Amino acid sequence: MMGSFTFETLPCRVVFGSGTLSAARAEIERLGGKRALVLTTPQQEAEGAKLGAALGPLYAGLFPGATMHTPVEVTERARAAMTACDADCVVALGGGSTTGLGKALALRTGVNQLCIPTTYAGSEMTPILGQTENGLKTTLRDIAVLPETVIYDVDLTLTLPVGLTVSSGINAIAHAAEALYARDGNPVTSLMAEEGIRALAHALPAIAATPDDREARTEALYGAWLCGVCLGTVGMALHHKLCHTLGGTFDLPHAETHTIVLPHALNYNRDAAPAAMARIARAVGADDAAQGLYDLAGRLNAKLALRDIGMPESGIDKAADLAVTNAYWNPRPLARDAIRDLIARAWAGERPM
Ligand code: NAD
Repeated sequence: MMGSFTFETLPCRVVFGSGTLSAARAEIERLGGKRALVLTTPQQEAEGAKLGAALGPLYAGLFPGATMHTPVEVTERARAAMTACDADCVVALGGGSTTGLGKALALRTGVNQLCIPTTYAGSEMTPILGQTENGLKTTLRDIAVLPETVIYDVDLTLTLPVGLTVSSGINAIAHAAEALYARDGNPVTSLMAEEGIRALAHALPAIAATPDDREARTEALYGAWLCGVCLGTVGMALHHKLCHTLGGTFDLPHAETHTIVLPHALNYNRDAAPAAMARIARAVGADDAAQGLYDLAGRLNAKLALRDIGMPESGIDKAADLAVTNAYWNPRPLARDAIRDLIARAWAGERPM
């Protein structure tokens, strides 16, 4: 039986399709922007310059310095660049790292953001910002950081390398999986979650076989959008907290950490959230959610072990201690020994059990 719930839609305009990047100029005008600073990582600088040229008189400048974990020093440099070119809005072209920089600038200056995601991380749909200062990552939730407009252009994702496509896609699936058992979950977010997982689980194998398969890329980007909405709408639990701790403590790559930990976190929660697990399993076309996602990652040649992405074995106990230090809600209570076992299996790349 359906219980009571609260559902709040976040205000964001979405333009989705192939070739939609050409709408950037009109979308900036729609927001009242006159001088746009384009943000990218150093790796995507050329794409940023090309976009800038297409913006014509609205192009104020390019800041190609976005980097992982949104360090405040980088944000301060970008803010100085905004002042130097007299920008009144920002255009973030890239993955979660670039989106994070746009959000950090909006938080400090109140400027409007046009966000153009090129991975499946989903940050563009959330009022959440993680920032790093003196090596410490903190996360805040503030509606001021939610981008006003998002352009999803499938064409921009064709160049996403298969490895990052797979890990970023499973990172997106993780948002939807935890949304299905969220304490503040609701039937509408759950619909998006199940459809988001289905779309990504269906599209990723096709993309792994043919990276420029436009139809599969479209389905994956659509799935990533839905999963991002889930992350922005309801609270996350053990999986996201563990990944945050592991990533921050051992400086592990974001999307790959999610890909490795997800089957183990779901296995931990299996008996405490049977209805959610049934929906996740159905969406990935498996009998069991955790086993199905472990098998999917394996079939897609994703890395399955935390030891293969830089976590030392000596870190297992430290991570288990940290994971239970700050209590947070999870469908199954946090038990240190069981969490240590989960992390040890994920470290070794063993099948969840
Ligand atoms: P990323 O943004 O760091 O991108 C990884 C690399 O891939 C970069 O070098 C980037 O330039 C390159 N790249 C991106 N798109 C490409 C494309 N289409 N073709 C070729 N290269 C491309 O990685 P990410 O996984 O998207 O983002 C991770 C960051 O986002 C983390 O810092 C994480 O904390 C944050 N994040 C935040 C939220 C939130 O709601 N606040 C949600 C998800 C992720």
